Amino acid sequence: MLETRIAKELAYISQAGLARRITELYFVNPAQAQDRTGKTYLVLASNNYLGFTHAPEVIEAASQAALKFGTGSSGSRLTTGGTFIASELEKRLADFKHSESALVFNTGYMTNLGVLYGLLQTGDVVFSDELNHASIIDGCRISRCKVVVYKHNDMADLQRLLETEIVTGQRFIVTDGVFSMDGDIADLPSLAVLKKQFNAFLIVDDAHGVGVIGNDGSGTASHYGLTDVIDLQVGTLSKALAAEGGYVAGKKILIDYLINRSRPFIFSTALAPATLAAANAALLLLQTQASKYLDSLRANSRLMRRLLLEGGLNVVEGITPIIPVVIGEAGLTMQFADRLKSKGILVSGIRPPTVPRGESRLRITVTAAHCEEQLRQAAQIITALWQELKHGEKKEG
Ligand code: PMP
Repeated sequence: MLETRIAKELAYISQAGLARRITELYFVNPAQAQDRTGKTYLVLASNNYLGFTHAPEVIEAASQAALKFGTGSSGSRLTTGGTFIASELEKRLADFKHSESALVFNTGYMTNLGVLYGLLQTGDVVFSDELNHASIIDGCRISRCKVVVYKHNDMADLQRLLETEIVTGQRFIVTDGVFSMDGDIADLPSLAVLKKQFNAFLIVDDAHGVGVIGNDGSGTASHYGLTDVIDLQVGTLSKALAAEGGYVAGKKILIDYLINRSRPFIFSTALAPATLAAANAALLLLQTQASKYLDSLRANSRLMRRLLLEGGLNVVEGITPIIPVVIGEAGLTMQFADRLKSKGILVSGIRPPTVPRGESRLRITVTAAHCEEQLRQAAQIITALWQELKHGEKKEG
């Protein structure tokens, strides 16, 4: 019975062209990966924004930690798995995020679950941007409180909802800092005003903001120069910080509460020492050499955006290294991504339900580790293929 139901559902997914495929790659450097056959691809799809996964300092720190402390942590932070590396990383993260305290979780996904589940209660209302990451959506779902979704980055809509919604507990506003699919930035100045007006608690997920925006690369607050507006700053160690895990930074009393009440934190085995050491070394690198890496990342983002626009592609405007190229139809988008792969370029094809119907897109990302030559060559291939596909569409249509 169950198998029949599952087989039917899988057949539907497959027929709709929505089947998900697991990749099998390894990175030879932050810009290039190989498959099993040894074929090399230029990767324009990773979140390794600063290329720190292959920085000698980061690799050395991870290797030393594994050699000294073994491969696994062997317990939760509250039993035998707590290490001074985790505590040191949390101090560094708190300092970097201009916060009193920070707490590391096992993934960015679990951080959002852990924060929202841990903090929100029946009677509270959470106002959530419609384009927030799945982990925020899921955190809201399990939080036991009412969820109100506002139109993407639409502060008038948010204000209207804040005014009309009856709330017996606390109002929460939760948003991505840099949106993962559109690459745009939350309107923090307006959120600051609304937060004050409605006495709301503001949570910002800067998974794609850290190592990307702000003079010091610390994310959305620093980008706007509003470092004391956000109550809890969520982030991940898995993107610019080149490791795995997530974190939340804020007032000590909130962090102490989460340590006692956040089940994803309490009941998971702690991250491996090597992972924590890698994140710590990557963060140190960002803190000490921010301008060097951020300048390269920003120059590469500007260059790629300009080249794709000049090539006639429908690039969503922005300043971040997440460059969405809207194609429209899901089938054509996936065909585009597949053809690019066969030409040795990896980009992500994004389609519903991740983005709305009719807005399927290529999600192209650049890193500080790409060189100009790689980007120019890739842009040439992408724009030439787009001309071919577009004309093919017209003939068929
Ligand atoms: N938040 C956002 C905005 C993300 O884009 C992601 C990852 N795609 C996450 C959270 C989850 O982070 P992680 O991959 O570390 O679980």
